[in-house]
Amino acid sequence: MSVPFLDLKAAYDELAAQAEPEMLRALRSGWYILGPEVERFETAFAQYCGTSHAIGVANGLDALRIALMAVGVGAGDKVLVPSNTYIATWLAVSQCGATPVPVEPDARTHNITAEGIRAAMAPGVKAVIPVHLYGQPANMPAIMAVAREFDLKVIEDAAQAHGARWGDTRIGGHGDVACWSFYPGKNLGALGDGGGLTTNDPEIADRMRILRNYGSREKYKNEVPGLNSRLDPVQAAFLSVKLQVLDSWNARRAEVAASYQEAFADLDLILPEVATEAAPVWHLYVVRHPHRDTLAAILAEAGVQTLVHYPIPPHAQQAYASLGMTDHDLPLARQLADEVLSLPIGPHLSAAQIEQVISATRSALKTL
Ligand SMILES: *Cc1c(COP(=O)(O)O)cnc(C)c1O
Repeated sequence: MSVPFLDLKAAYDELAAQAEPEMLRALRSGWYILGPEVERFETAFAQYCGTSHAIGVANGLDALRIALMAVGVGAGDKVLVPSNTYIATWLAVSQCGATPVPVEPDARTHNITAEGIRAAMAPGVKAVIPVHLYGQPANMPAIMAVAREFDLKVIEDAAQAHGARWGDTRIGGHGDVACWSFYPGKNLGALGDGGGLTTNDPEIADRMRILRNYGSREKYKNEVPGLNSRLDPVQAAFLSVKLQVLDSWNARRAEVAASYQEAFADLDLILPEVATEAAPVWHLYVVRHPHRDTLAAILAEAGVQTLVHYPIPPHAQQAYASLGMTDHDLPLARQLADEVLSLPIGPHLSAAQIEQVISATRSALKTL
């Protein structure tokens, strides 16, 4: 038996009977840009996140760009970003004409901290983008306190954290804006690209609504140079259905994570660490080992597919060669990139597949 990293077909099959009539209604409605399906999803998602506004956009990268533009980040500004994030976090900053300034994460939670932000502060820094990496929420109360002290805007990259909580509060409204991706592999994934924004600030919400639609409130009247970045109504119809199962699917992920945590506790393997106040949603289950590539190869041999999130840190990408940053500047980002390994943790893993991942990992560790 083989264990795929993520089974999107199984996810679709479970929702098909409920979702297909909804998508068919959207297809037959004659309304194909924004409109009632998108508004329905926006209302439901805002309610789910406990925020007063949700805005559907085309993808997660655009969500980040629009959020930065809406809080006034532009040419010449600096924005603090994690050194170990997916490159989209950095690209959004660059595409606004600003410069990403990396912050090394906490080595155990993989998230940036208030202390890290304080240490990285520099003249010209206007905003910070904490990422709730792997579905583990960052410590938002502490980050908000340091951001207030330095008068920083806070844009959350919540692309991996649909449904996560810090304390009793869901991710979505801690910062000025939270940015979401509905890329198919995300916990709340669509059947193609999609993204969203949540906020409690009515003025920022208003700016973001205009920015996603050519900077226009009224057709052919353009207030600001905006983007064309709108959530598709058919995707919105699907997402409205998927949102209803998000909590139960996240609970299944948590069960898989709990099985792994227990089964691997005695192994010479660095396991994910969850902060006491955090309720993660286990977008990824990421372990660390100095011989990561060998471990991945042994698991593949045993039929267990793994992935690396992420093998090359943004500072070492060709796209950022011009920044001139080296591994010497960001040693933790490099070390994590060399050591992290993501095990399968989708909501459609069977008990037998979970067992196979556990036994394959346990026996692999004996030979490493
Ligand atoms: C997926 C992801 C994004 C980008 O989302 P897209 O919808 O693919 O543009 C941004 N940040 C993080 C942390 C992500 O995981």
